Amino acid sequence: MSQYLTRDGTPWVPMFLEEISETKCIGCGRCNKVCSHGVLGMKGLTEDGDECPIDDEDMERIVTTIVDKGKCVGCNACALVCGAKGAQTHTAAQV
Ligand code: SF4
Ligand code: SF4
Repeated sequence: MSQYLTRDGTPWVPMFLEEISETKCIGCGRCNKVCSHGVLGMKGLTEDGDECPIDDEDMERIVTTIVDKGKCVGCNACALVCGAKGAQTHTAAQV
């Protein structure tokens, strides 16, 4: 597990965003707004749970999705603003 230090020398372990649950995410978009690293986006889902464009007439709900996992710096900000229990999964950095 990687461990780094903050500026004052406090240990810091990056917690990378691994997954967002389509069933638990309520699509509030708060994580999307707080992430400044281009990791997240939004997508539409049909009643059957199939992915669809956000402007599709069959779209039933919208959720946040990971569009570029590799850009995550593990800051954990998205987890702090999420009010949907279990919607996000984070893992500690592995090297
Ligand atoms: S942990 Fe930080 S960088 Fe990674 S997705 Fe969440 S807010 Fe973005
Ligand atoms: S903050 Fe949580 S509930 Fe809101 S869009 Fe992000 S993952 Fe979904």
